[in-house]
Amino acid sequence: MKIICIGRNYAEHITELKNERPTEPVVFIKPDSAVLPKEQDFYIPDFSKDIHYEVEVIAKIKRVGKHISEKFAPTYYDEIGLGIDFTARDLQSQLKEKGLPWEKAKGFDGAAVIGKWLPKTKFEDLNNLNFKLLRNNEVVQDGNTGLMLWKIDEIIAYVSAFFMLKKGDIIFTGTPAGVGKVSANDYLSGTLEGEELFSLNIK
Ligand code: ZN
Repeated sequence: MKIICIGRNYAEHITELKNERPTEPVVFIKPDSAVLPKEQDFYIPDFSKDIHYEVEVIAKIKRVGKHISEKFAPTYYDEIGLGIDFTARDLQSQLKEKGLPWEKAKGFDGAAVIGKWLPKTKFEDLNNLNFKLLRNNEVVQDGNTGLMLWKIDEIIAYVSAFFMLKKGDIIFTGTPAGVGKVSANDYLSGTLEGEELFSLNIK
């Protein structure tokens, strides 16, 4: 199983990190070892002093495919969820500055939180989903999938031209504005259309 993530997919988040608006999706991968086991706390790793939360809508691939056209992309996933793309922002900034790969900053153990899955048929329009991240019960990120530069089906079409998608692969679709640092004793929870799909403690 692999996790394919899209960076810089919400205009306001691009601005907050002072990044350039991309002309094509920014793609990176997290290894399967990055998945935070269910019900486990997230431990801040000692190689970073600036771990950021990034809440993202996620989709689970249900069958093998490559070079998938946007039109057929919906037939490759049935479930939608919510996750966190934890990022060692200090390490990422150093690596970006040197033009080096981001893996250490994005793919470390526990860097992918995967919440409860919901059937996509539960939603009328996947391009109009409200989602939130709460930190200590206060909303810190408030997004809507309608603001994505590339929508789920476009992402699947784009990434499948490079990477064969397999059953169980997960797509992280990018984070809206409001990313920020976590501290020990924080409590994070995420909601999609008002339903809580994950919660965890930071240690
Ligand atoms: Zn992200």
